[in-house]
Amino acid sequence: MSPDQVPAGAAAQRGAGAHRHRQASHSHDLPVLPEAVDIFDTTLRDGSQQEGLSLTVDDKLRVAEQLDHLGVAFIEGGWPGANPKDAEFFARAPAELRLGTATLVAFGSTRRAGVKAEDDEVLRHLVKANTEAVCIVAKASALHVSEALRTSKDEALAMAHDSVAFLRHHDLRVFFDAEHFFDGYAEDPGFSVSVLRAAAEAGADTLVLCDTNGGTLPHDVEHIVAEMVAGFDTQVGVHFHNDSGCAVANSIAAVRAGATHVQGCINGYGERTGNADLSAAIPNLSLKLRVRTIPEDRLERITPVSHHIAELVNTAPNPQQPYVGAAAFAHKAGLHTSAIARRRDAYEHIAPDLVGNGTRFVVSEMAGRSTLALKAEELGLELDSEALGAVLDTLKVLEHRGYHFEVADGSLELLLRRATGWEPDYFELESFRVIADHDRQHLTEATVKVRIGDHRILAVAEGNGPVNALDSALRSAIGPHFPELSGIHLVDYRVRVLDTGTGTAAVTRVLIDTTDGEVVWTTIGVSENVIEASWQALFDSIVYGLLRSRSFGRPAAPRPDRRATPTDAAPTVAAPTEAARTEAARTEER
Ligand SMILES: [Zn+2]
Repeated sequence: MSPDQVPAGAAAQRGAGAHRHRQASHSHDLPVLPEAVDIFDTTLRDGSQQEGLSLTVDDKLRVAEQLDHLGVAFIEGGWPGANPKDAEFFARAPAELRLGTATLVAFGSTRRAGVKAEDDEVLRHLVKANTEAVCIVAKASALHVSEALRTSKDEALAMAHDSVAFLRHHDLRVFFDAEHFFDGYAEDPGFSVSVLRAAAEAGADTLVLCDTNGGTLPHDVEHIVAEMVAGFDTQVGVHFHNDSGCAVANSIAAVRAGATHVQGCINGYGERTGNADLSAAIPNLSLKLRVRTIPEDRLERITPVSHHIAELVNTAPNPQQPYVGAAAFAHKAGLHTSAIARRRDAYEHIAPDLVGNGTRFVVSEMAGRSTLALKAEELGLELDSEALGAVLDTLKVLEHRGYHFEVADGSLELLLRRATGWEPDYFELESFRVIADHDRQHLTEATVKVRIGDHRILAVAEGNGPVNALDSALRSAIGPHFPELSGIHLVDYRVRVLDTGTGTAAVTRVLIDTTDGEVVWTTIGVSENVIEASWQALFDSIVYGLLRSRSFGRPAAPRPDRRATPTDAAPTVAAPTEAARTEAARTEER
């Protein structure tokens, strides 16, 4: 049976027409380009299938808040029938989650074979989840019906129909996920379409075509989605996985073919290679196709929300992520940077501030004078040509020794500031000492002696590594003089042994990421001694933090691409890699 013969059920009309369509501008074949699509985020359900991603109920509530802050239409919160954590999430959500733009959706599957819908546990859990909308998944591939479900095609159709009808009877808005739809359609289109028809006739609001194995390519998506849009009056949505690297491209192709509902995950989280990355799909649809997605004035929230959620789910943001990555608008080559100084749009596909990101000039020994001049300008520093030349020489020497200022923006800024004659005078280090004991707890002890004005302070602290112990001792020593330090935390610590190729001893490079809840900065230390390298990176980390927080010489506005939290959300700070466990002792004398 051909899909354009598919009759649409009377109840299926409700979902249709939610978004009017207008003529597609670039294609003769594609019927219409929708004016708007509904963004459906499934980070809390499908996205949390990602390896290594484990969210508590509190994490889930906070991720949902961020998604709502971004302005997605639907948030799939989890599978209340499948695990107690998701059941708790839906139980707490009504009281603890105040959603402004988003509707919460509970996920489940169709009734089991041979069981009445009203007797099915999963469907009953869905009703009890107390949401306005639910999403149920059904097998839309003949192969999966016979092999995985081990039932007949007729029963599979009845399962889809009965389950949707049951949920509609409870006045729920029903999204119908047609699992394995694209693969099933390639093998047995008649069956896959009849599954959609069963759901539409039972009153499903949205028929979601799922590329469960993620192997479909955009040209196939375009014609299959166009056929379904033409064949059904019910709203058609899509759900892509990224196994062929095409999840975002497929989502765009589907919208061009008339789909008005796009599922995906912020930052492309998900099993295997992930789901369609909404952080790229949303700007592509909004800015390139001019199709409404989230409210237009919230598009600039997408970079901070992407980074904030990365922090909530405890994964490092991918700097190369399109639109929202820290490197998305970073320019390194000398030729580019001098050209971009003249024409901002010469090497950027959009204005970065549209998505809350920013242009960044990456400085390294490879970069020319113009890159460095731009960087200084970005920081609001005045450096004459002689000073610039001196900084460039210093950079070259340091990078030869193993420093890598491209990734250490905090240390680079301190270097540039020093070139203007500035010297940090918050405290003066007299000495430090680190002792690593081979006891059962593997604790490291650090002693730090510093001077602040006339005060000489000695502090001792323990930690589970040299950075942690030094950080604790230094904070213990100078913390009472600088209360703002309590808001500054180390978030990551990386050590790399470098092969300098000079035949001398190996050199260690230490990078420390630090945040004050508003921005993240990276500092660097390099030495043949890991403790010394750690100290250098830590010293810069603390000095940069104090510089930021003091009225004196407050650095330029935080770079949006490194913003740790959205402007009006509560700051969240991940625990340092070396967990703090300190018993600090401190003495002060005049
Ligand atoms: Zn999926």
